[in-house]
Amino acid sequence: MTNDLVLLDDPHFIVDMMYARTNNMLGRAVYDEIGYGNKAYMHKDTLQALLRVVPFLEKNNCKMRVCDAYRPPKAHRQMLQIIPTPGFFAKTPELSNHCHGTAIDVCLTDSAGHNLSYPTEIDAYEKRFQEQVCQGHFDAFKQHLQKARHDYQETSPDALCHRQQLKELMENAGFEAIPHEWWHYNLKGWQTYPMIEW
Ligand SMILES: [Zn+2]
Repeated sequence: MTNDLVLLDDPHFIVDMMYARTNNMLGRAVYDEIGYGNKAYMHKDTLQALLRVVPFLEKNNCKMRVCDAYRPPKAHRQMLQIIPTPGFFAKTPELSNHCHGTAIDVCLTDSAGHNLSYPTEIDAYEKRFQEQVCQGHFDAFKQHLQKARHDYQETSPDALCHRQQLKELMENAGFEAIPHEWWHYNLKGWQTYPMIEW
């Protein structure tokens, strides 16, 4: 591990790493299995950008839930072993910005920590699809994933508003959205950051 990785430890954020619990696509707490646990490490530049959202959180009396941040490559390799089907996890840890410490999965919550409404859960790769997908049935899952896209409109006005609000907040803080996952943000300039081994 390098000194570039720092821990998010701030009361404005709720650390709820999805791979440190079992209700995720894998049905396994891989982060616990490798001894990493429910911790949100990230590159220090990512943290510096993320903390720029704090004034917004205070002004709007809300918090931010962080469901993934730095992902040890060892965890990513284990995830690929559990679900080797292409299209779920980046084919190698090298290809996942989470393994570089430059990606975070986030949403806003109210002051009590309840997620605001969004078009899907964060994230949309839910456990209920695992069995179907592992048996080669992709239709329901692919249809569901449409709802994770930024251009998906067939949902409540509130959910659309919250998705847009999060996007503006994160872009102003120094992150870039990706088209197919409304909760995932990459640090601007991520291309220059190498993968970090744990
Ligand atoms: Zn992500």
